[in-house]
Amino acid sequence: MLILSGGIEIYDAIVIGTGAGGSTVAKDLSHLGRKVLILEKGSKQRDGSYVKHMKTKKIDLKNNLSPEEKRDYEFLTYPLELTNIEEIGGTTTASIGNACFSCSGCYTNSIMQQFEDKNLDIFEELLEASGELNVTYFPKKLWGHSTQLIADAGDELGYIVEPMPKFINFEKCRFCGKCVNGCVYDAKWDGTYFVSEAVEYGAELIEGFNVFEILHENGEVVGVAGINQNNEKHVFKSKRVIVSAGAINTPIILKNSGIKNVGGQMFFDIFTTIGGYLKDANLKNELMMGVKAEFGPYFLSPHYSMQLLPLMERKGVEATENDVIGLMLKFADTCIGTIDLEGNIEKTLTKVDVDMIKDGYEKAVKILLKLGVDENSIVATSLKGAHPGGTAAVGEVVDNNFESEINGLYVCDASVIPEAPGRPPILTIVAIAKKVAKIVNQSI
Ligand SMILES: Cc1cc2nc3c(=O)[nH]c(=O)nc-3n(C[C@H](O)[C@H](O)[C@H](O)COP(=O)(O)OP(=O)(O)OC[C@H]3O[C@@H](n4cnc5c(N)ncnc54)[C@H](O)[C@@H]3O)c2cc1C
Repeated sequence: MLILSGGIEIYDAIVIGTGAGGSTVAKDLSHLGRKVLILEKGSKQRDGSYVKHMKTKKIDLKNNLSPEEKRDYEFLTYPLELTNIEEIGGTTTASIGNACFSCSGCYTNSIMQQFEDKNLDIFEELLEASGELNVTYFPKKLWGHSTQLIADAGDELGYIVEPMPKFINFEKCRFCGKCVNGCVYDAKWDGTYFVSEAVEYGAELIEGFNVFEILHENGEVVGVAGINQNNEKHVFKSKRVIVSAGAINTPIILKNSGIKNVGGQMFFDIFTTIGGYLKDANLKNELMMGVKAEFGPYFLSPHYSMQLLPLMERKGVEATENDVIGLMLKFADTCIGTIDLEGNIEKTLTKVDVDMIKDGYEKAVKILLKLGVDENSIVATSLKGAHPGGTAAVGEVVDNNFESEINGLYVCDASVIPEAPGRPPILTIVAIAKKVAKIVNQSI
């Protein structure tokens, strides 16, 4: 059955998805008095339950590893795990509250620099986003025991260890280390707050609606087609559609809608967690990633992974999860992944990627050894990707107004970032969305 919503001017804009990009653009446009329809595939989950809703895709990365590299860095041969959340708030709900200002002080190819190279300026919006998310540095007096140990060891080795900026209210935070479940203390910002605000300002939200196509005629957007919770096909009409379905789903919707060149520059901001045995480290119960040490295209930060203990046990280490300490190594991977219409992803781990991992791994091991970790207990998890992007990049699929070849069809999520930043992207995506909201508002 096909259900058609009424006249063409019902909605000033339709926003697809409620992640960092979608929730922000919907909130800002509604605040400006625009009539907005939000179509979201998922629904609202209970805080504390989000980790159960994490979707994981396993990807066998192509590589040219030598036999020695396969032996010494076995973790590079495991499938990469790519994660996202498809519920109200998108993947922001599982974030650790890390806020990166994407400036070139840390990494010369930061998102701000990539945009600047294309004469695109989102500086004003970045400041607005930072103010709205109440970004602050994690105060030193609140650092946990293991965070302090890692910071001290890094300092002694001559690395510059600094507090991580966070969109966490430290008066409410209980430092439980469970941000990834969705904050139960109302301390961490996520997209669900902006969705609620958008609805308060008058936006209409339809949950459980899976958009599959943007409808267009003569190069102009006319609406959106998808399937509702009752499995009925439904069409909504508007002259402006903002696709914010995330870097995995946005390219599929765009390809379905006949847009070319999509999905060809995919990156993940690949990471691994390197850890080992330290009696009663208890990192698991601290606020994760409280500090960081920057090394250009990659950084290191305290991180606990559930995979570390089983890997340590395989090496004969007797420990409990309280005796595990670790460091995340996250880097800007080469953006040469591809995603097809069915969502199949292909990606190669290049020599540049591998050399960067080796470099970061050695530094992480030095820190762990300095703070007293038993060398024989050191392990590294499989590679992971939690920041997919690049699949509808500015300059390739959208222009500097984030508009595609179809008039009125905008993209506003991590897809538009041209190359891997190797850094937490939420704050920048919120800034991009604030820019898109201004551009769309002017077009109405
Ligand atoms: C465990 C974890 C921790 C992280 N921590 C941080 C952090 O501390 N700081 C940071 O900056 N980044 C962090 N990230 C990364 C960050 O969460 C994501 O990069 C960012 O949220 C992506 O935002 P987005 O707007 O591009 O899309 P997404 O979050 O992917 O949102 C897309 C939205 O679209 C909806 N959708 C998808 N398909 C459809 C469809 N067909 N129809 C309708 N709706 C659809 C989805 O349900 C979702 O709501 C973390 C990621 C993970 C997995």
